Parts: sequence; C-alpha cells; structure tokens
Amino acid sequence: MSKVKSSETVKVVIRCRPLNRKEEAAAAGVTRTPGGEGGIVEMDVRLGQVVLRNPRAPPGEPRKTFTFDSVYDPSSKQRDLYDETVRPLIDSVLDGFNGTIFAYGQTGTGKTYTMQGAWLEPEKRGVIPNAFEHVFTQISRSAADRQYLVRASYLEIYREEIRDLLDPNVHAHPPRTLELRESPESGVYVRDLTACVCKSIKEIEEVMNVGNQARSVGATDMNKHSSRSHTLFLITVECSLPGPDGRQHIRVGRLNLVDLAGSERQAKTGVHGERLKEAAKINLSLSALGNVISALADRRSGHVPYRDSKLTRLLQDSLGGNAKTVMVATLGPAPQHYEETLTTLRYANRAKNIQNQPRVNEDPKDALLREFQREIARLRAQLNHRKGRGKHRKAEGEEGWDGEGDEEGEEEVEKERTLQEERLEEEKEAIREDGSLLVEEKQRLLGEKERMMGDLRKERDATEQLTAKYKAMESKLLVGGKNIMDHTNEQQKTLEIRRQEIAEQSRREREMQQQVMVQDEETLELRETFSSLQQEVEAKTKKLKKLYAKLQCVKAEIQDINDEHVRSRQELEQTQNQLTRELRFNRFSQMKKRPASAVGYKRPISQYARVALAMGAHSRYRAENIMFLELDMTPPTTVSLDHWPSEAGPHCSPSPTDNGPYRQRAARVRMSRSWCQIPRAITSSTSTVSLATHSTATPTAAQ
Ligand code: ADP
Ligand code: MG
Repeated sequence: MSKVKSSETVKVVIRCRPLNRKEEAAAAGVTRTPGGEGGIVEMDVRLGQVVLRNPRAPPGEPRKTFTFDSVYDPSSKQRDLYDETVRPLIDSVLDGFNGTIFAYGQTGTGKTYTMQGAWLEPEKRGVIPNAFEHVFTQISRSAADRQYLVRASYLEIYREEIRDLLDPNVHAHPPRTLELRESPESGVYVRDLTACVCKSIKEIEEVMNVGNQARSVGATDMNKHSSRSHTLFLITVECSLPGPDGRQHIRVGRLNLVDLAGSERQAKTGVHGERLKEAAKINLSLSALGNVISALADRRSGHVPYRDSKLTRLLQDSLGGNAKTVMVATLGPAPQHYEETLTTLRYANRAKNIQNQPRVNEDPKDALLREFQREIARLRAQLNHRKGRGKHRKAEGEEGWDGEGDEEGEEEVEKERTLQEERLEEEKEAIREDGSLLVEEKQRLLGEKERMMGDLRKERDATEQLTAKYKAMESKLLVGGKNIMDHTNEQQKTLEIRRQEIAEQSRREREMQQQVMVQDEETLELRETFSSLQQEVEAKTKKLKKLYAKLQCVKAEIQDINDEHVRSRQELEQTQNQLTRELRFNRFSQMKKRPASAVGYKRPISQYARVALAMGAHSRYRAENIMFLELDMTPPTTVSLDHWPSEAGPHCSPSPTDNGPYRQRAARVRMSRSWCQIPRAITSSTSTVSLATHSTATPTAAQ
C-alpha cells in the first residue's frame, strides 16, 4: 500500500564558493564588479537570482540572469543551506519518502565541501554530518510508540563500475564490482550491497569514515583532493508505527546523499594516463546525466536515456520518479571558468522543470524491520519457554512464568538454577559419604547426578546465548522518545524550531517575490490604457525596446549553446586522440623484441624461397635471413669525460673517441654466422637440413 502524493518539481539551489588564493591573485588585475569581488557571479539572495557576467563580452551586452529556488553566495554558511533546503527533505525521509540530495558542478567548486565539509569544525560540517545528527535527534524526539531501524550503505561509481566502499575487499585484484537490479517495490537497487545497522550518530560516522578511506581521490591542477568517482551514501530509515486500524505499519524512507565527481576539461586539470581515463568516464557519465535532465525537462521527448550510464540508472528514481530531490549546483566565481559556470547554470535551470512523483513507501514486502520484529518475537518466545521450564521445575503445579524478558524474572530463574546446582552438589556429597551403598551403586548414582549437573550447565549456556542474541537484536531497534544520545536541552530545541521557522519564512518570502516579479510584467501590459496617441507610442516603443532586448538575449543564447556544443565536441575529440595515442604507446612498449616469423625465422620467408634455398639452385635466395636485427634495449653508452684524467695518468687514459668496449657491449646489430654456416635452431626441419647442406657445398662451388 502506498499513499500517492501529487507530483512536485526537483528543487534546485545554487551555491557559489569564494575565490581561492590562486584565483584571487589572477583576478587582482581585473576590474572588480560591485558585489562580485573580482568574480563573474553576482547573487541576489532575497530574490533567488544569479547574474553571470561574461568577462570577454563587449560592454553593453546584457548579463545572463537565472532564477532558482534559492541561492547561496560565498558568504553563506553550511548551516544556512542545511536549515533552509535540506532539513525539510530529511523530515520527509523520516515520514517514509525517498529523498535525494546531489551536488553537481565543475571540479573544485565545492561539491564535496557542501556534502561533507570539515567534520571537525561544527560550523563547517556539510550536509551529510548534519543529516546524521538530524535523523538520530528526530528519532529520539519522536513518540514512544514508534520503532526505528536505521541502515547505512556507501558506494562509489569508479570508471563505470559500482564498488562497495564498506566491503573490506574493495581494493582486491580484480576488484569486486556490484550489479544494478530493478524491482517494482524498491525501484533500482544495488545487489549485495553492504548495509550496516546503526544505532547512533557515532556508529554512522564510523561507517562513513571507513568508506571515505576506500574512496578514490587524486590530485589535479584544479583540486588537490579531487574526487575521481561518484559516491552515494544511502541511509534507509524504517519506522514502525501504529495506524488508525490499530495495527503496526511500516514506512521506509531512503535518503541518497550523492557527491558527484566534477566535470572537467583535460586542458585545465592537466591530467594524463590513468587520471585521463578516469576523467573520460566521469565526463561521459555526467553528459549522460545532462541528457537525462534535458530529456526530462523537455516533456515532449518520450525516451529518457537512463540506461546510458550507471549513474543515471542509480538516480532513476530521483530524477522523474518516486523521490523528493534537491540539486545543489556549485559554481566558482573565477572569470577563467566562465564557460563551465554557464553550463552548470544551464543544466541547473533545466533541472527545475523535472517533475517527480514522491509517495510514502508503506508496508513494503522487503522491510527489514518486520523481519527483525519477527525474530525478536521468536527469541522472546523461546526465552519465555526456557524460563517457564525453570519456574516449572521449581514449583510444579504453579502457573507458568510469562514475564517478558524482565530483569526480575531472569534473576529469579538464575537464583533457582544456582539452588538446584547446590542441591545436586549436596546430594553427591551425601552419596559419597553413604557407607551402606555398594561401590557400583555409588558410582551409578554419582554418574547420574553428574549428568544432571551437565544438563543444567548446558541449559544455562544455551539460555545465556539466547538472551545475548535477543538483547543484541533488540538493541538495534531504536524506540522513539528514548535518550539515544545526550538529550538536547529544551533551550536548544526551541532555538532549532525558531531557526526552522525563519528559514521557512524567508523561503516563502522569496517565492512570493518571484511570483510578484512575474505577475508585474504580465499585469502591467494588461492594465495599460492610453489617454493620448503620443502616450501610446511611447509605451509601445518602450515595449518594443524591451522585446528587442529579449530577442538579442535569445540570439546570444543560441550562439552560446552552439559554441558550447562545438567546445564539448572538440574536448571529446581531444580526449579521444589522447587516449588513442596512449593506447598505441602502450602497445609499442609491450613489443620489446622484434617478432619472429611463425617458423622461427627473423623475417617471414616464402615457401618458394625455402624450396629454392633447399635446392641451392638460385643464388638469389642464398642470403635469406642471414641478419639478426634486434632492437637495442640497453641505455646509450655514456662516458664521463671528467673522470679520465683524474682516475689514471694521461698516458694510460683511453682516448675519448676510443670507447671500443662500450661499443662492443652496446652493438646489437650484427651479422649472423654467414649464410654458409649452420644457422640457429629453427623449427622447420627441412630448412635446417637444407641450410646445413649448403654450408659445406658452397665453398667448393666458390673455388
Ligand atoms: P569539488 O568536490 O567540487 O571538486 P571541493 O569540495 O573539494 O570541490 O572544494 C575545493 C576547495 O574549495 C576545497 O579546498 C574547499 O575547502 C574549498 N571550498 C569549496 N566551497 C567552499 C565554500 N563555500 N567556502 C569555503 N571554501 C570552499
Ligand atoms: Mg569532490
């Protein structure tokens, strides 16, 4: 059963990072724009607008303006983005919706900073650590009749292969890669992905740390710690709560926290070899993501190419499916990245039009929480049965004990067991001291008592094991209203609520301002009444000018898109050429020796030539394959001129030109034994014989 919610669009926010030192130095000579601090990006936070200035545009060219759900300028704090944009999404996940947050942008613009931030500085903690805190705090504050199970998984897509970052053998050779599967219940999922049950913030942070250590990162010219893979941290929150029908229902919310590897230009990042191959895959999957966004935004196109890359397959539900999605597009303000910034803004602008259909995932068949509850109930029943038996032994005929794992009951049973053991010990002692019994009878009775003691111990061990298992299972379930962590005091709680209210208010204000802006333009035209012809001409001229400016903008836009297309094509061609060159070079370096022909000759030789050689008929073929031409793989001979006079006297020093011994060693191109001598062993027996025959025959002929 699932409750259908009306569709909603992907929420798109923009974040611009400050200029870094390198860019600041480069921008020092450039004219500073008001508010832009040497950058090309200006932001109107109140209106949610980004204005982009083309550093190479002639003066007077209109700037490009984009409007988004919200924008975060370089002075924005991590907490601002979280409270305003991410918090409502996490709340939805706790209510059973699927949620996705992904950071998109050029490499080095702050995707990882936004998603993870600096863990040790509370002010700089990113979306992921804040989400951990939020999830567990909300669980601890929820109603006491709710039970939760939280699981975490961590994966990366590296060179189009999915790797489980929590798998200890993730870097084995060959690395274990995972497959994608699809089910009507849970959509696209990764088969055999490790999921760790987490009971606290500390535990989930530990999971993240373990995964981060296995993550693929490398240095490029644009980012010292560039992510070379797309990573996805998945948190699944299952919640069991009583429904209006009085029965327990389970809701499952999945939260995807995605940190994409950045799009990059080979020329700017200066990558080669392995890094270049990584970059080629990254760019391919990002262009597949771009195509998916374009196809979804353009509602006329029927086919959405989700299957073009693993990344788009994994994000299938988040883009146009059952999820609430937030896209954080990150920008750099430096003028040298104008084209990339514009591309990011265009994609982000398109993504605003994607419609998702989020719904509450209720009572799915594969809910792990239900399995846990069943297992816990089974273990509890077993324990009750055992404890009941203990009680029964103590006082036969009394009513069976049915305490539900309470400490008192356990203590009572334990006490009873100790008493039984003591009683058995006493009986054994009495038997030993009883002189009236025969030796065999004594031993039989003692053996019987020993067996009873053994049974008692075995039962105690089994009960202990069962209790430990039961407690371990039960501890994994989080119950609402309990102190999972140090309880936040009331003051802090109130503060959080206030912050939330402010964030909500500013969001509504921005939405209204955007609406007013759009409506203003429309209604102005409708309300226009003219008292004179002159007035009408003036108004219409004004309108014409406005429309002309719009036309110029659209024309410039078309030109830009064409240029961008040409640029990305050139970039792809360049990457392809580079990769082909590297492939050729690799093949060449593998070819260390001159290849021999199939029968063992240095050069291929025709059948006709071989027969002619065997017959000795024609002198034309006698010199076939007499040369061994091997590639000289030794380093070139170098002799230090400085050492000669100092090492030995001027008389015994060799002449600088006399490097005979060196030459000898280095010379690899040599004559083989003359064609008239016996050649090296060759596989063809006929030719060996024939050449051997010639070796004796020819000198005679020459005489
Ligand atoms: P990406 O993941 O997009 O390749 P990073 O997140 O690694 O880029 O950021 C690159 C550098 O920029 C890092 O040193 C990071 O600390 C810095 N940075 C990014 N965004 C911000 C920001 N909003 N404020 C301060 N520094 C930032
Ligand atoms: Mg990164």
